[in-house]
Amino acid sequence: MSKPSYGPHTRAIHAGEPDPRPAGAAVAPIFQSSTFLFEGHDAGYEDVHYARLSNTPTHDVLHAKLAALENAEAGLATASGMAAISSSLLTFLKQGDHLLAQDSLYGGTHMVVHKDLPALGIEVTTYDAAAPEALPALVRPNTKVIYAETMTNPLVRVGELDALARFGAEHGLVSMIDNTFASPTNFRPAEHGFDLALHSATKYLNGHTDLIAGAVMGKADHVEAVRHRSGHLGGSLDAHACFLLHRGIKTLPLRMERHASNAQHVAEFLAAQEQVVAVNYPGLPSSPSHAAASRLLDTCSGMLSFEVAGGRAAAYAVQDALQIPLVAPSLGGLETLVTLPAETSHVGMTPEEREAAGVADGLIRVSIGLEDADDLIADFGQALGA
Ligand SMILES: *Cc1c(COP(=O)(O)O)cnc(C)c1O
Repeated sequence: MSKPSYGPHTRAIHAGEPDPRPAGAAVAPIFQSSTFLFEGHDAGYEDVHYARLSNTPTHDVLHAKLAALENAEAGLATASGMAAISSSLLTFLKQGDHLLAQDSLYGGTHMVVHKDLPALGIEVTTYDAAAPEALPALVRPNTKVIYAETMTNPLVRVGELDALARFGAEHGLVSMIDNTFASPTNFRPAEHGFDLALHSATKYLNGHTDLIAGAVMGKADHVEAVRHRSGHLGGSLDAHACFLLHRGIKTLPLRMERHASNAQHVAEFLAAQEQVVAVNYPGLPSSPSHAAASRLLDTCSGMLSFEVAGGRAAAYAVQDALQIPLVAPSLGGLETLVTLPAETSHVGMTPEEREAAGVADGLIRVSIGLEDADDLIADFGQALGA
């Protein structure tokens, strides 16, 4: 039940389920056991089944479903998105190596790439994902990995992703992409030649704002190498969290349809309001990423940001007046969430750095949830009037 010919909803529900189903249970059970019996004296280390090694039956069914979502060869669940990202980078980079990293990265990844990796003797050069023609001048003999994000935070830009994967393949680099914002419903990195896709499964994959998890999908050899390294580093996912994530994934494509249609409606509404200076959503023809997103993504997902006239004070007023969204970091859950990047994700930057990154003081980031679009539009409308 993992034929790529099945549609995304069918795959999310049925792919990777155990056959036969244990005790006939319709839902794969949780094996809440840290260790498993060792089979015989001639068994080897690969026959050790231990939860930190991510090879229990509860992990196996989740891994198969994760792989099927992206038409990838293999999948791995991790203890968080950052465990997926740090374990993957530390699998393919060592002292003296060089990394090509996209110039805009999720905050936690930014810290790993620009602080932790250099401290281990790994060199980093940043590149603009919208300008892959500049890459040949940046690659070095010791370059080992090219790292990208499908959609950037908080401006929701989409780069020339297929060109990045192609460049990686031509230069023998391991290509990695953080696919959290798009989710496997909208972008399947393996189909575009990426070696590894990384996710914060805390976000859309789980979708219910109730657990921390990560995922790695991609080529079998690469995922196996990350699983092995993750066993050393210790970032494996507990069996109960595996079960919850597995349950959340079954509705991923259904949820993503609604996230995208709600986001498109809200983005169009915001773009027509005179108090709104700019709306960042690749589903709008005005977005600099509209062409790339139309070519690469199935829908534009549920993340948007908009800038209100009047700077930080005006953004506070709008945020305080909103009735439905919760004011909280994170994204990808059922509830609409809003944050002001200037005081959360980008607070560590100077005002000048923020301005260079396009993060204005009046910018509000929204993770559009699954509420009724009309209710969200009415709420943003009254808040803008406040
Ligand atoms: C949240 C997030 C992460 C980190 O994931 P955690 O599950 O919080 O560790 C990484 N990348 C992106 C794009 C994210 O949104």
